[in-house]
Amino acid sequence: MAVTPVGDKMFAGTSIENCYQCGKCTAGCPLADQMDVTPNQLFRLVQLGEVEKVARCGAIWMCVSCFTCTGRCPQSVECVEIIDALREYAAEHGCAPPDLKRVILFQKAFLENIRRNGRINEVELIAEFKTRGFLQDLSLPFLMKDTLLAPRLMQRGKFHLTGEKAKDRDLVRRIFARCTTAEEPAANEGGAH
Ligand code: SF4
Ligand code: SF4
Repeated sequence: MAVTPVGDKMFAGTSIENCYQCGKCTAGCPLADQMDVTPNQLFRLVQLGEVEKVARCGAIWMCVSCFTCTGRCPQSVECVEIIDALREYAAEHGCAPPDLKRVILFQKAFLENIRRNGRINEVELIAEFKTRGFLQDLSLPFLMKDTLLAPRLMQRGKFHLTGEKAKDRDLVRRIFARCTTAEEPAANEGGAH
């Protein structure tokens, strides 16, 4: 198998070698026909060490993590974990398509919010996402977009002005810290292959 340092990281918990290209993941994927590269093709490219190329595909950002592919795979390939790792790689290495930069911003703001509060604080999340997005391109329409939705969401109990925090936030932070340190050695070890 062509293994790159990044390859090791994204294979955590699964073996991409086990994929024998049966296509069952793609056949069950509700978004496959909208993707520029189908799930099984993504995994084949990873097998071939074409990580950079895969990280530039729009498909990894279309995936909604429904886990259908993982559930259908006869080889127990952890498809969603691979796609998640590809997103991380794309975000870290600036490979993501330019029109998806806000998706990445949202992902970062979302994870940071969870790390800090142990659960989502909606006001804080929106403020952080909008501020980061606005600072990127100074787009006022982006800043104001969806503002009028807030009262309707609040009426339906889907949006809360006061966010709650998890009781044991230290535990959540420790989980994040462990995930981060677990990824780093894998990323470095790959050079030895
Ligand atoms: S279902 Fe599993 S083995 Fe089949 S192509 Fe998809 S990842 Fe590979
Ligand atoms: S998790 Fe993503 S790739 Fe897998 S079936 Fe769902 S949308 Fe498709």
